[in-house]
Order: sequence, then C-alpha cells, then structure tokens
Amino acid sequence: MNYHVNEEGYYGEFGGAYIPEILHGNVERLKREYLQIMESPDFRREFDALMRDYVGRPSPLYYAKRLSEKYGTRIYLKREDLNHTGAHKINNAIGQVLLARRMGKTRIIAETGAGQHGVATATVCALMGIPCVVYMGKTDTERQRLNVRKMEMLGAEVRPVTSGNMTLKDATNEAIRDWCCNPSDTHYVIGSVVGPHPYPDMVTRFQAIISEEIREQLQQQEGRGYPDYLIACVGGGSNAAGTFYHYLNDERVKLVAAEAAGMGVNTTETAATILLGKRGIIHGSRTFVMQDEDGQIIEPYSVSAGLDYPGIGPLHAHLADSGRTEVLAVTDRQALDAAKELTLLEGIIPALESSHALGVFQHKTFRPDNLVVLTLSGRGDKDMETYIDHFPQHQ
Ligand SMILES: *Cc1c(COP(=O)(O)O)cnc(C)c1O
Repeated sequence: MNYHVNEEGYYGEFGGAYIPEILHGNVERLKREYLQIMESPDFRREFDALMRDYVGRPSPLYYAKRLSEKYGTRIYLKREDLNHTGAHKINNAIGQVLLARRMGKTRIIAETGAGQHGVATATVCALMGIPCVVYMGKTDTERQRLNVRKMEMLGAEVRPVTSGNMTLKDATNEAIRDWCCNPSDTHYVIGSVVGPHPYPDMVTRFQAIISEEIREQLQQQEGRGYPDYLIACVGGGSNAAGTFYHYLNDERVKLVAAEAAGMGVNTTETAATILLGKRGIIHGSRTFVMQDEDGQIIEPYSVSAGLDYPGIGPLHAHLADSGRTEVLAVTDRQALDAAKELTLLEGIIPALESSHALGVFQHKTFRPDNLVVLTLSGRGDKDMETYIDHFPQHQ
C-alpha cells in the first residue's frame, strides 16, 4: 500500500484539486514549484535555521515517568507545546511564507478558527515584514478575543466573516474568495493538511520535521529509531501527519488518531469526521465530510476550537479507510479529564486539542514494554477559560 500522494494529488481515492477556474493558474504553479523550492539546499538552510533559532527546535522528546507508571507502559511526549507561539502550527507558517517569498508573492492571507494558525501566520509575517490579512468567523473573533488582539499587535489585519455560521468553514470560503481576486501577488497560507493538492502534501512535509526528530531522539534515548505506537489528535490533521510521516510505510509502528467526539458520537454535538463523515468535497479536496442526506455540511461541535472542522485531510481519510490508522473518538469529558491528569502528574497544562490525544489512554491499554510516543501539539494557556469553567475551585 502506498500512503504518499500521487502525481494527480490523490491519496487512494481521496484528495485532488477541486477549485474554481480562476485559481487554476496559481495552484498549478504551486504544484509545479513547491517540491523544487522545498528541496533546494538554499531553502532548506533558511528553514532549518529558523526552526532552530526562532522556533526553538528540536522540541524535546520527554519521557513522562509518572504518566507511564499510571498507565503501565512507556510514554514519551513530543513537546510541540514548547515551540514559539505554543504549538506546531509555526512549522508550517514559516515554511509557507518562505516559499511564498521565493515565488515572488508580496501579500499573505490566511484563515483561522480558534486563532492559533492566524497568530502563527501573523507572527511569521511580522518577522519577514510582509502584509498579512487573516479571515476569521465573527463568532470566533468574539470567542477568541485575545488571539485577535495578538494578531493585530503583530500588524495583521483581522477581517471578521459574517456569512454562514460565522466560523472556520466560512472564514475559509472568504479566504478563497480573496485569493480569487488577488491571484498574482497573494499567497494563501492554509493551516492544516487540507485544501486542494498540493497543500495537503506541502503542509505534511513542513510538519514532517516532527517525525524526523522523533526518529533521531528515539535512536539516541532508546537505542531504536521507532516506537510501537504513535498517537496524535486530528483536527484537519497536520500535527498527526507530521508525527506519522516518516513511519507511514513502517508497519512495525502502529498509528493512532484521536478525533473529537464532542458530547459523543451518538449525538449531533460531535466533530468525529472520520467515523461519521461521508465521502464528499470540501475546500478543494475529496475526503470525509460531515454532511446530511442532501450533502449540506453539518456544523461540527467540540469543546476544542481547533478540532471542530467538518472535513479531514485526505491523507487521513486514506489512512483510516485502508486500516493503517486506528481512529478513536474522544469526548469533551474524556479530554478534559486527561488535561487535568497530565497537569497533576507531569506539571504540563496541555492544549485542549492535545488532550484528545491523551484521552486515548482511557480507551486503549498498552503493554508494559510498549514504546508509545504521543505528540503534545500545543500548550494550554489559550484554553484556561475553558479549564476554569470545567474545573471549579477546591476540587
Ligand atoms: C490547530 C491545532 C490542532 C489541530 O490541527 P491539526 O491540523 O489537526 O494538527 C491541534 N492542536 C493544536 C494545539 C492546535 O493549535
């Protein structure tokens, strides 16, 4: 089985590039040039230097002793939460803005839901002195005021989107509309492994630094370069894609993807796209989509703003469909409990998204000699209000 993208941009039957005619030239050019630019030694040097000196990579691979004792197995945490701006998103934002610059683009646009990708993109644009416009659903701008202020302080223009439910899906539509109007000078930085080919593959390759480091760090710390299990949460799927990338064809390594069950997979308040979605097209690619009988997109729900996307990267649709990944749906409650547990056992407050990956330990038991690597995609600072609401004092 091949898990990599083919010439036409497909992972098995998933992926492709379903885009309006006006974007054809832009996407075609990106498709022609992205690998050539990304693989040039010059680009690599620039990317690697920023990863090291600006982001703070390599992020540690931390042996979580007390968490391991609790679950009777050996657990390492890949600490993406320690990156500059607090999550893995900066890896991709730096990669794409560098690439855009080499393609002669002078303006950056992005979509954002909770604001994490918007903040990462605005950060890189400040660093490189490039104008940046971020589309964000009006509902989200109200829920995530702090991130809006951060983006503005970083010099980005945040445009609230008032169509549809005024959330991520609508912000994405608006960003695509902007790109259609400004195809020559603008690059659209997509925040996950979604969108038309070559975005899913391009973003995966920028995030693949995660598994590249895991391999080296395991070799150094354990004397073997592969784990028995890799665990990551899946929203659009970029931290999971980066975590899995160098092990996709290594069958010794079992891959576990945690998606957000919200209130439960048997309720309508859920974001378990892989388990409940049906084949369809969203934002330029064929994948699993949460939709009703008429193909109308169903608004997803999760306590975690970074996981409530109604689609899923086509790579993950293929990995799940072919049985390469085991997909587990973790509820709000399980994720919140896992967040509290990690905090008390290890002194690490995780992002709510990452807490869904930690929730896997409530679903699945591992053997004492298993080597389990879990990617902690981000830190919990941004989620403190939610944690405060759910964990009353003196408890
Ligand atoms: C955005 C985000 C996610 C979800 O996005 P993926 O593309 O699935 O990785 C997960 N964790 C954190 C901390 C995030 O900010």
